[in-house]
Order: sequence, then structure tokens, then C-alpha cells
Amino acid sequence: MDDIKKVVAQGFDDKEYIHELGHAKRVLELCTMEPGFQEKFTADPEGAFREYHIDADPKSMKILAIKEEAEKVRQTPFEELPRTVRRYRAFMNEKFAGRDAMAKKECVPSHPAFKAWRGRQVSRCWAELGVRNSAIVHAPIMYELNLGCSVGCPFCGVAAGKLQKVFRYTEENAALWKDVLGITKEIVGSAGGSGICYYATEPLDNPEYEEFTYDYFDVFGIMPQITTATATRNIQRTKNYLKESDKRYLRVNRFSVLSLDMLHKIHAEFTPEELLYVELLPQFPEAPSCHFSNAGRAREFDSKSVDSNDQGGTISCISGFVVNMAESTIRLVTPCRSSDEFPTGERLIAKRHFGTAEEYRRTLAGLIEEFMPESLPKDQPLRLRNGIHFEATEEGIQFYRDEGFKLKFSGNDDIPAKQYQDVLAKLKKGGSAYDIAGELLEELDMEPANTFFILKKFEQAGLFLEPYE
Ligand code: SF4
Repeated sequence: MDDIKKVVAQGFDDKEYIHELGHAKRVLELCTMEPGFQEKFTADPEGAFREYHIDADPKSMKILAIKEEAEKVRQTPFEELPRTVRRYRAFMNEKFAGRDAMAKKECVPSHPAFKAWRGRQVSRCWAELGVRNSAIVHAPIMYELNLGCSVGCPFCGVAAGKLQKVFRYTEENAALWKDVLGITKEIVGSAGGSGICYYATEPLDNPEYEEFTYDYFDVFGIMPQITTATATRNIQRTKNYLKESDKRYLRVNRFSVLSLDMLHKIHAEFTPEELLYVELLPQFPEAPSCHFSNAGRAREFDSKSVDSNDQGGTISCISGFVVNMAESTIRLVTPCRSSDEFPTGERLIAKRHFGTAEEYRRTLAGLIEEFMPESLPKDQPLRLRNGIHFEATEEGIQFYRDEGFKLKFSGNDDIPAKQYQDVLAKLKKGGSAYDIAGELLEELDMEPANTFFILKKFEQAGLFLEPYE
């Protein structure tokens, strides 16, 4: 993330760079959200740019927006591509690198047991969600400043309820908030600041959202990213916040675009330059690229934008805690495939109340202790997850799911393939790590250290049920 911050920050001072990329981004937004724009642009790019007040290089934009044109330059060396193409691709690559860094570095808690538990959830999600998992950062903690949401989107992936309560920035609440952030930092480390200040809520429903995030910056040194579905509710407020937020810590924010009218309003009120670091999310069925994950209310939402073949979607991105300040609760959650049992694509593992800062500390630490063993207990039966098949291979063993997930473990000179297969055979019969190691020592003279090593690898791969499951 340091890199993206640097690159973004350098770009931020460069007016010509911002203008060029801002307008390129706007063309792509129109292609993905404005019905009929792509056709106009393909037939007459200059005419389309005039109509939409865009200052962009038509040749570059064709490469960026039209698949066949991109294909024509696939073999062209990067440095020979038009400048806008080079700059836009670099800009996007930085954003993707930033997301990867979030998942792999910034979201990793310093608390060893929390870190190990989160690692197991990330691995489990690769098996359960497949490639969808690459878009999930598995944030260790997020904060909600309201209870419920005023927007009521019919496709809401987290099925947020109606707005019931707002955590106002009173003296008392502000003190509790700062304590909560400080305690989180002590327990979770800097990863406690990798989350955001909304989840099943609309951030700007809170009239003092800004104040809370400035405190957040004071504790963690970063501004939490904002995604708002109410960017046009009070345009001056939105603009002021982006400006204030960017002054402290420049990052990519997001507006959910809920209708074509809203898109027009956003494009009329915000210049392409103002929106360079704001992603617009198409969330209305007329938008050519609109797609709703099949989770939460979208499971019941009758729209062509919900792909009914896309079963098991999720928009959940937390493997850890959701702290709701309005309700004074902490929820422990992790993503999963959406289903009748878990309609929002998220498992709620526990929910606890807290009143004071000290109760918050005890509750957070208690949840980690109760639900996040650093290692699974060696004296309790190990249970493989349902739906995972396994087979012996020449190299060792392979785990797989019907949907295509495959995970291979290969033997080597120190631990040959057969030992993986022997451990697996014992696992099939059931037993604890101690039972399995004892039996393999007795029957095959296998070093217990090897058995534990293999079981640890399976554990880290998220193949076993957690004790609470
Ligand atoms: S999608 Fe966001 S804004 Fe819409 S109802 Fe859900 S939480 Fe609220």
C-alpha cells in the first residue's frame, strides 16, 4: 500500500496527469453505466466525446474500452502503447496491488491466535468460494456507527435492516470511540486500522461520520475508505469530506450509483478530476455492467442483473469483528457461500455486548480466546470439512471439491508421499492428532513430528472444522 500511496500522491499533484486519467476513467464509466454510450463511442468517438464533454485520446480509449482493439495491440511492447493506455493500466495495476497488499499484509493481525484463525478462514474460503476469494480482503475488524441503513437497496447483499439508531458524536460517545480504537490497536495491532467505518450501514447516515473518521486517522494514521450510496444526498458534504479526507490520507473511495439519474447527477456535479480516486459502482439494472452478487436481498430480487447461476455469492469481506457502536455489540463473522442457512454469505459465529471501554477490552480479548485457538487442540477429534474429497496421488495427496477447487500436498525426501497418505487414511477413520500420531508410531514407526507437521499443513489449509463448528 505504501507504493500506491506514493504513486497516487505523486499523481495527485500533477494536474495534467489527473486530467488525462480522470477523463479516461469517465469514458470507461460511461461505457459500463450509460445505456447506448458504447455504441455511440464505437461508431464516432469524437462525436461521443463532444456530447459528453470529454477530453480524451480516441485511439487510447478504443484500446482501453473495446476488447477487439485491445487484442490488436496485445503483442505491442508496453512502452510503445499510447501514453493514456500506459498510464491507465499502471494506475489500475497499482490499485490491484493495493488490494493484494491489504489482504496479505495490512489486514493481518499482530495477535498470534487471531492471525492463525484468520489465515485458516482465508484458506477455507479459497476452497469454498474459489476465485471470488481473490476480491475479499478478510479485514480483521470493521466499525459500524449506526444500526441499520436508511437507503434500503432491494439488492443489499448484507440485507441491512431499517435505520434504527445513530451513534452521535457526543462528548461521552467520542471518548468511548477513541478508547475502542486505542484498545483495538493494542490487541489487533495496526491491522485494527485496515477496516472501514461502515458495513451493513450507510456511512453518511451518521451526521458526524466525518468526526469519527478524523479520530480514526489520529489513532491509525490512515483514513478509512468510504463507500457511500448517498453521494448525491448532500453534494457539498460529500465534496468537503473527500477533500478533508484526501488531505490527511489519499486513498480510493467509492460511490454506489443506484440509478441512471444518480449517475447523471454525479457526472454533472463532480468533475472527472474530482472522481479520479473515486470508483463508481454500477448498481442499477439498466447499467450494461451491473451485476449483483447473489447474496442477501439480491437472492429474492427479481432482476436480470442477479445471475441465478451464480449460486453461493457473498459480499462479505471480514474474517474477524464487526463493532457496532450504536448497539454496543461485537460480532465475530467470516465469509461463506450464501445459502438458505447463510443467506448473506457470512457466518455469524458469536455476538457479545459491551458497555464501557474496559468491557470492550475484555469482550474482544475473550472472543479471541474462546473462538480463535492458535492451533486446533491436539486431544480433540479432527473433523474434515464437508464437501471436500481427497485421493492419493503419485506425489502425495490431493483434496478437491466438485466445483473445481484442488489442493495438492507433495512428499519429499524428509516426508515421503506415503506418509501423507497414511495420515489421511487415519483421518478418514477419525481421531485426535495425538491418537493419529500414536497409532502411526506404533504401526508404521512413523515419527510423531512428521505426523504433526502434516496435520499442521492441513490445518493451515483450512481443511478442518473449527471447534465451534
Ligand atoms: S447496499 Fe449499502 S446502502 Fe444499500 S441497503 Fe445495503 S447497506 Fe444500505
